[in-house]
Amino acid sequence: MNNDIPRIYLKRNKEESLKRFHPWIFTGAIARSDRPVGDGEIADVYTADGQFVARGHCGAGSIAVRVLTFRQEPLDLPWWTDRIGRAYALREALGLTADPDTDCYRLVHGEGDGLPGLVVDIYGRYAVVQAHSTGIYDALPLIADALAACYGDRLDAIYNKSEGTLPHAAEIGCTDGCLRGTPAGSSVVRENGLRFDVNWREGQKTGFFIDQRDNRALVRRYARGRRVLNTFCYTGGFSVYALRGGADYVESVDSSGKAVELAENNVRLNFPDKAPHRGIAADAFDYLKEMEPDRFDLIILDPPAFAKHHRATPNALNGYKRINAHALRKIRKGGILFTFSCSQAVSREQFRNAVFSAAAIAGRNVRILHQLTQPADHPVNIYHPEGEYLKGLVLYVE
Ligand code: SAH
Repeated sequence: MNNDIPRIYLKRNKEESLKRFHPWIFTGAIARSDRPVGDGEIADVYTADGQFVARGHCGAGSIAVRVLTFRQEPLDLPWWTDRIGRAYALREALGLTADPDTDCYRLVHGEGDGLPGLVVDIYGRYAVVQAHSTGIYDALPLIADALAACYGDRLDAIYNKSEGTLPHAAEIGCTDGCLRGTPAGSSVVRENGLRFDVNWREGQKTGFFIDQRDNRALVRRYARGRRVLNTFCYTGGFSVYALRGGADYVESVDSSGKAVELAENNVRLNFPDKAPHRGIAADAFDYLKEMEPDRFDLIILDPPAFAKHHRATPNALNGYKRINAHALRKIRKGGILFTFSCSQAVSREQFRNAVFSAAAIAGRNVRILHQLTQPADHPVNIYHPEGEYLKGLVLYVE
């Protein structure tokens, strides 16, 4: 049985992290394979002594194998149906699958759900699937079948949006499009009772930053009577929540004019009778640097990942320090700063130190009110701490 699956042998004593269920095997840990393995191929991993340890997808980068199972079991439709079903059971336990106020959530969060390389986001009656590895891309027909089995007639379409995330999308012929069902470009979703127009064809990531849901709800709690500046606003999630929370005025800033339009559109969707909101297309660094002090008493900094790789970490930390120093200089006394980093290559400790340096530069009295992270539908596999990527601080500034 399984004679056709290639065998990869580790170097001596390189199985330690695998025995602790870490799902990645780096090229440096591998001694040899019994035949050449291609990008995306399923392989079995053995210790130097010939003991089976894991089965997973081979990759072409520095991560040579992404582990899908620590058992010698077929990765067939029943297997995918079981894994997708377990991911669904967690979202069900979180109250997300039948919440009248929220119909968008992450169903599969890669390693956090034991499925390295796969992201599935649910937007109402649509599922958007994103493959980050060739192995997952090859498995998309099985994944679509498993999703259809799990949701039945509650899904109208399954859309593949992997062109931007697959390492060699063009070479393997991956184009974005519907795997199942009727093509549709966008849909209005609900999140905590608020409405957002999500365009997964053209939008960043799968169309919406679902990972800020809980943190947006916290902004709503603090917004009453405040003047709010939402920088790096993208679709205006934080702005809409701040307005719902009773903010006196909200300004949304993004360097992309398109993003500002999306934010303005979402404000209109929730507040058709005019809201105290203004969208501005500008560089957030310049805008904060040049603006008059004391204009705002709640500022949100949610920049894109400044570091995509560890070698970019020093530059990223400098970026976080600068942007936070600008905001801390300008915020009104008694103001609240929500500041985030979504760079996986920057640790919670490093981010906090960058904000600490910024506070010292600005010379303000700063207290930490909350330490934020990603929501429960973006779970962290305890054996894969790298999966904790979103870090946030809520600061009270005197
Ligand atoms: N806060 C958003 C997500 C932010 S995504 C949410 O909750 O949905 C990051 C955004 O930063 C993108 O929309 C991008 O266009 C914008 N951006 C990138 N560099 C920028 C810069 N220098 N100044 C302002 N916006 C920038």
